[in-house]
Amino acid sequence: MNGVAEEFGSMVFSDAVMRQRLPEDTYQRLKRTIRGGHKLDPEVAGTVAEVMKTWAIEKGATHYTHWFQPMTGITAEKHEAFIRRTKDGNAIMEFSGKELIQGESDASSFPSGGLRATFEARGYTAWDPNSYAFIKDGVLCIPTAFCSFGGEALDKKTPLLRSMEALNRQTLRILHLFGHENVTAVQTNCGPEQEYFLIDVDILKKRRDLVYTGRTLFGAKPPKGQELDDHYYGAIKPRVAAFMKELNQELWKLGVSAKTEHNEAAPAQHELAPIYAVVNIAADHNQLTMEIMKKVAQKHGMVCLLHEKPFAGVNGSGKHNNWSLSTDTGLNLMDPGNTPAENAQFLLFLCAVLQAVDDYQEMLRISVASAGNDCRLGGSEAPPAIMSVFLGEELTEILTAIENETPVNAKEKTLLRVGVHTLPRFPRDTTDRNRTSPFAFTGNKFEFRSPGAPMSVSECNIVLNTAVAESLRQYADLLENAPDREHALHELIRDTVRAHKRIIFNGNGYDKSWVKEAAERGLSNLPTTADCLDHYLSEKNLQLFEEHRVFSETEMRARCAILAENYCKVTHIEAVTMLEMADRDIFPAVSNWRATLQERAEKSACRYEKETLDRLDSLMNDALDARDALRGGLSDVGCGTDADAARLYRDRVLPAMRDLRAAVDAMELLTPSERWPFPSYGDMLFSVK
Ligand code: ADP
Ligand code: MG
Repeated sequence: MNGVAEEFGSMVFSDAVMRQRLPEDTYQRLKRTIRGGHKLDPEVAGTVAEVMKTWAIEKGATHYTHWFQPMTGITAEKHEAFIRRTKDGNAIMEFSGKELIQGESDASSFPSGGLRATFEARGYTAWDPNSYAFIKDGVLCIPTAFCSFGGEALDKKTPLLRSMEALNRQTLRILHLFGHENVTAVQTNCGPEQEYFLIDVDILKKRRDLVYTGRTLFGAKPPKGQELDDHYYGAIKPRVAAFMKELNQELWKLGVSAKTEHNEAAPAQHELAPIYAVVNIAADHNQLTMEIMKKVAQKHGMVCLLHEKPFAGVNGSGKHNNWSLSTDTGLNLMDPGNTPAENAQFLLFLCAVLQAVDDYQEMLRISVASAGNDCRLGGSEAPPAIMSVFLGEELTEILTAIENETPVNAKEKTLLRVGVHTLPRFPRDTTDRNRTSPFAFTGNKFEFRSPGAPMSVSECNIVLNTAVAESLRQYADLLENAPDREHALHELIRDTVRAHKRIIFNGNGYDKSWVKEAAERGLSNLPTTADCLDHYLSEKNLQLFEEHRVFSETEMRARCAILAENYCKVTHIEAVTMLEMADRDIFPAVSNWRATLQERAEKSACRYEKETLDRLDSLMNDALDARDALRGGLSDVGCGTDADAARLYRDRVLPAMRDLRAAVDAMELLTPSERWPFPSYGDMLFSVK
């Protein structure tokens, strides 16, 4: 590749390209639409489409697609050739304004959570001019929102844009109270760190569990896992380095600013982090990143696993969602300032986040719920399913001083008054910071660590943005009407700390004692997706999203149904895969080995054969019991995919899956490697040299 700077964004119809290629008037009108969120003028759309088409064809594109993010969690595209036949039988390349701004798509094969039954099956895609079009594999991709005939959002992008708008609205009210009259827009920033595993494709093909479900359903722990921490930040292997190099190049062309890459804690685990961006762009880019990771891995003879917990006993993969708010004048609202006024403003935003995480802890947990992430959260390597906020000692001390109206430390004599005193500086982003917290303040941003590796970042940011917007709405209502604003501000911060301090936890989130303490504090603990479903449609949640115009009740119901359906379907596929692997490969292999042992036992002078046989007999019986229980569980659930079915999967199917696995993994360790039908954990985790 030539210079990175030249190649960066070369496949993106970016602002610079638009400014250069569009007539001045069209460019200005398009920008006004983008800034003001107005509908695009058909005439402007026509000109933009023509210029976009010419640019795309110059870059080798032959097709275009509306690129959108349905509720499957991955992106969808349906390619249309630019080509059109003329009357005289020739072909011309055509792309109209109408084709640019709106597409019609048969929505019936995408999850709609019942919206399909109530409305027409048709869905519409509409260009989101906030995200730039780009070319991928010869196809011009136009980022779009996706909604039903009745206007209900059927995707992850529409509500994200709505939540950004809600947060913008409320934040501006607060900033104007602090005298920032010149701020006209506030944006939510997101930098998602993406974890993933790379496994050799030939090894992976031999594991039906990985092929069908993306995770291993069986597999005994290898003698060496991640105990020595010798992989974390270790030297990158040549094959992986070649993969990373090509991945970066492909991402850079698409304007994705992939920046850091390193080995993660588990063997074969790696991480990529981009430079943060406005959250809707970050969400698009993260979807592209995952897609391109898979493609590039394939080219290098590997498979990129994005499952939350591909391997039991070693770390799973998350997606750390770094989140902050900034103004169009360049202020980061999560950055503690230097003056008393800046400090006060920072403390108020900090309180807004604390209150949001406390008030909407269930919804935040729900935003990262999936069958896959259930395997990871609380697994002593990932944050628990209990939401809490890590602030660090220094900041907590300050909040405690405000709460109790005491001096910050022994040296200080005066009481800390918000808006009057400067706060002591807190060290930023110390390396020994707490990594066991689901939600940590890291100096000038928050890091939400619970999202699973394959998830769209939209879900959690929709909740976070809306919940923070609600805290700020309450604060703005109060402060706008306060006769003595400084006094009211001090009391507001003090009272918020008092009311929500239970959500602050600086201790070890992996510790078992935290589960008990959290319960005493009244924090909710929702270990599985099935538990989450009971809280999804609570009055509090419905009210939040309706009030801020992020979701209608209908949309909420649809999304809850989709979550339940997904959990049930994924668990069903896993259960059936386990049964197939056990019945068709594992049990016959163990039976053969038993036969050999039996033959040899009579002639053997030592106790090895007999003892192994006894042990295998007992394990085999356990495995058969678990298999029968699993079959029974599955037949009880039937083909249900609602919240009731989800509870049955949780109570009947998943425990039987765990029992079956435990017995089979123990048998694996008593069976010769060459007789075991599947590659071992060691084979998989150390497959890439
Ligand atoms: P660490 O692994 O120490 O958490 P990384 O460098 O791997 O840190 O990732 C940090 C991520 O946070 C990057 O994507 C970075 O761009 C992002 N980030 C940095 N500052 C902000 C901010 N103000 N708002 C949102 N994201 C940010
Ligand atoms: Mg990190």
